[in-house]
Amino acid sequence: MSILNADLHSHSVVSDGTLTPEDLAARAAANGVELWSLTDHDEVAGQQRAAASAREAGMAYITGTEISVSFAGQTVHIVGLGFDPDDEALREGLQSIRDGRGPRAREIAAQLEKAGIPGAYEGALRYVRNPELVSRTHFARFLVECGACQDTGEVFRRFLVEGKPGFVPHRWAALRDAVGWITGAGGMAVIAHPARYRFTPNEEYALFSEFKAHGGSGVEVVTGSHTAAEYVQYAGMAREFGLAASRGSDFHSPQESHTDLGTLPWLPGGLTPVWELLEERIR
Ligand code: AMP
Ligand code: MN
Ligand code: MN
Ligand code: MN
Repeated sequence: MSILNADLHSHSVVSDGTLTPEDLAARAAANGVELWSLTDHDEVAGQQRAAASAREAGMAYITGTEISVSFAGQTVHIVGLGFDPDDEALREGLQSIRDGRGPRAREIAAQLEKAGIPGAYEGALRYVRNPELVSRTHFARFLVECGACQDTGEVFRRFLVEGKPGFVPHRWAALRDAVGWITGAGGMAVIAHPARYRFTPNEEYALFSEFKAHGGSGVEVVTGSHTAAEYVQYAGMAREFGLAASRGSDFHSPQESHTDLGTLPWLPGGLTPVWELLEERIR
């Protein structure tokens, strides 16, 4: 079962992706994905649609979400897999994170206005399908549309990141809480795209050891934003910390994502794939 085309990280219009759960499922199946998870940011509202369309496409499905966490002054993403999407504590936890996004979006827009870009709140909202989930990605799409930037990559270099207009410091969930909501709902917590954080070696060590101490059990090794060298690096971290390894494209959009669903390399050898620990949770 370990050579399985699993894609356990992707986004739909329920968060900051551009495809519906149904269209994502069809695309994943057409690309040969055998086990899929929709992992919308801080939200499980797409899970039923994703599971139903996976079943229709003949693909195994596992529930998913990607929780925003604040750790050592940075934002860290924790993917949850194989949880009960009706779990009350998980739902309340995710709701509490989403509640902070509205005021944050207003503040992002106010900063952009001062930087000479008016109308960004309304502009971003035109890309939003879930009113509780306004993200920087939606602002990025508007900044491209209005001609302020050529593409979303340029947006995240010139705006919306620390030190640039439109960056609003935000307190997301605590690591302990995010891991606790996932495991409390019967799921498995996984550190998303670890190479994307800008931690010192000591901070990264603290992230991995605290994550593990709170009950976290996996790390993304092969993911859309990792280089081949980073696969090797985080395979080493998985072994060092006794974590299972995950694989997921982090696909958001045919126009914006470099890595399509189901097209990543296999996990390096000698790792325990997360799906081997989730077998009884696969639908
Ligand atoms: P938010 O949760 O509102 O802070 O938005 C974070 C989202 O912005 C991530 O999930 C990515 O989809 C997107 N994002 C962050 N950094 C970049 C980047 N450098 N290039 C493209 N998209 C990015
Ligand atoms: Mn995203
Ligand atoms: Mn992420
Ligand atoms: Mn993601």
